[in-house]
Amino acid sequence: MGFCINCGQQHHDGTRFCRFCGNQQPGEALLQRLRIEAQQIHAIRLQMQAQQQGNPYQQRRW
Ligand SMILES: [Zn+2]
Repeated sequence: MGFCINCGQQHHDGTRFCRFCGNQQPGEALLQRLRIEAQQIHAIRLQMQAQQQGNPYQQRRW
């Protein structure tokens, strides 16, 4: 079972459109991809923060 991202009603897995409000559902594959992308962005941000803190002069070398 999944939940509509728009109205929150329950619907069967694999449903592409909510039967209550008609909103298109992203699907588990897309959700997983978004999760992975969010994790990668978070990791890159942490890396950049660490670089800026570790090398204060690196910012001017451009
Ligand atoms: Zn809905």
